[in-house]
Amino acid sequence: MKVFYDERQSVAANSSFSPSAEKPARVLDSWLKIGIPFEVCSFAPLTADEMAMAHDPFYVDGILSLEEPNGFGNKNPEVAGALPWVCGSMVAAALHTYKTGELSFSPTSGAHHACYAHGMCYCTFNFLAMAAIKVHQAGASKIGILDLDCHHGNGTVNIIDRLGIDYIRHYSFGLEHLKRGKAAEEWLMRLPEIISTFRDVDLLIYNAGVDPHIEDPLGGILTTRQMTLRDRIVFKAAKQLELKVCVSLAGGYQVDADGSIDKLLELHDTTFKAGWTAYENVTEKGASSFARE
Ligand SMILES: [Zn+2]
Repeated sequence: MKVFYDERQSVAANSSFSPSAEKPARVLDSWLKIGIPFEVCSFAPLTADEMAMAHDPFYVDGILSLEEPNGFGNKNPEVAGALPWVCGSMVAAALHTYKTGELSFSPTSGAHHACYAHGMCYCTFNFLAMAAIKVHQAGASKIGILDLDCHHGNGTVNIIDRLGIDYIRHYSFGLEHLKRGKAAEEWLMRLPEIISTFRDVDLLIYNAGVDPHIEDPLGGILTTRQMTLRDRIVFKAAKQLELKVCVSLAGGYQVDADGSIDKLLELHDTTFKAGWTAYENVTEKGASSFARE
């Protein structure tokens, strides 16, 4: 299992309600403590031209030159400097998984609201779309984006429409408009069927948002048990279909008064463990205690 991480993709000092910019470093630290064996891989940042494959080139230049506000609504030069690395992480993970079939993670958030010519809602550049475009260029016929963030991936849809892309299959949990309780349970029962609609894709990008969690200020649907079940179902169903899967973090907004994001880290840890258990823990011998939970 690979994680495509570079410290240059994380920004510690970004003033925003969303902790997305600081998450890469925090999540990597948290994953290192779990005890799952994985390799941290280096990669190149994307160039402005590469990022403009999914966006208006003038928008890309406006962001990088600090003339336009980013998806957080500020012009923080550290965010602008991190963005080519953030996008590079997702693209590298997607290409690696497409070429090798190995499960990979990109500890990145803040993509799916980013439209062709503007950012919004803590999303500046749509690296999900960039990854799909790059993987298509590398030879893939169909790419799936399974977006289980709590909110609609409107930016991804906008880019697909704007560029007339016919090779991306897209599912957005946000469009389900689920209520908690019975409706959430019923959705979990339907989830294997939803995954099966991706059975013919050459790569599945799983946007594993943790903001559907019941205590998330911008979510409020799935309990901790249901979030765990969600990730187990996704990876188990995908593995049964022999899908190649790479994972992005997406949203999550549970921040304590002291700035702690421990609740988010626990949820991202759950996704990481579920992926490893389904895709890497192939022998009894390799099983560790948490895999047998
Ligand atoms: Zn969200």
